[in-house]
Amino acid sequence: MKSFSYLSLIVLAALSAGNQAHAFGRAQPLGTIQAESAVPKEQIELLRKDFDWLATLKTETPTDEFRQVLEMNDATPANLSGWLNDRVSYLIAENFKPSLLNIRPYIFKKFEYPASDLPELELPPEAKTSPVLDPNNLPEGKPEDEAKAEPKGKVVMANLGSALYLGGKMSKLLLGIKLRGVGRIPVTSPRVGIIQVGEGLFYDGFYGESVAKDSPIRKAFRMSTFFHEARHSDGNGKSMGFLHALCPPGHDYENMNACDRNTNGPYTVGALMDEHLAKTCADCSEAERETIRLMGLESRSRILPEKDGSPATAWDAAPEGNFPPRQ
Ligand SMILES: [Zn+2]
Repeated sequence: MKSFSYLSLIVLAALSAGNQAHAFGRAQPLGTIQAESAVPKEQIELLRKDFDWLATLKTETPTDEFRQVLEMNDATPANLSGWLNDRVSYLIAENFKPSLLNIRPYIFKKFEYPASDLPELELPPEAKTSPVLDPNNLPEGKPEDEAKAEPKGKVVMANLGSALYLGGKMSKLLLGIKLRGVGRIPVTSPRVGIIQVGEGLFYDGFYGESVAKDSPIRKAFRMSTFFHEARHSDGNGKSMGFLHALCPPGHDYENMNACDRNTNGPYTVGALMDEHLAKTCADCSEAERETIRLMGLESRSRILPEKDGSPATAWDAAPEGNFPPRQ
């Protein structure tokens, strides 16, 4: 039967050429997360192994800060993956380009956004990316655009669900996003959990040659980045999406949206995960633990005081909108 299925695939591919790229691919399961068909197989394989690795962590009593920020009493592998699965349900490939082809408002569906404040946007002078996806300002897009888009190795990860929810709330439109191999998802909350994964998450150039893609250091980098991104699915009103602040002059990431003005946002979550992974990793050498700890420190260097100079505090992490409870 193999030859038959190959043949039908070729026929389907020929019929669809230049028409609907990836339309026939299937969603790829990653635990309870669904990755759209366009996410490269190698990335899915690595992430599957990363999740298996999370399940091998030793269970150790977490610090008070970890317990408070992640609202988790025991950092068991089951609790960690549960935390992630509450906030991430879909993975999108790097070559996904938001356009009128894949993002549309639901005209006939009634949806009320809460009458809460909007988060403050701190944008750099020449902003290339925005934490908001404006549905009134999307490019038309052509079907072949997505297929041709080449990953540039810049995107590490991005929480598109939260950007779309914010864009929808600002325009008072419920938005739907069409994921290849998955279908159309209404973005009724940032907790719908739609994350874009990029080449940057798997990029060799950040490391020496001796650090293989499946080394604990790189697993820790991918997993703490995942937890960072998942935090963008939280918050409400002003804290919605835990949007980043501009890093100040003199900072390594000066004038980029790569800092936090709170003590429980994405960079703190990432740092806490690095510190936890360095402690509980079963297959890490002492040098690897040290490197993972340093990654945590780097994240902590991005926590800023408030604009008036007073110390940063914790933001309200309760999520906004309607989302399905955990199964
Ligand atoms: Zn972030």
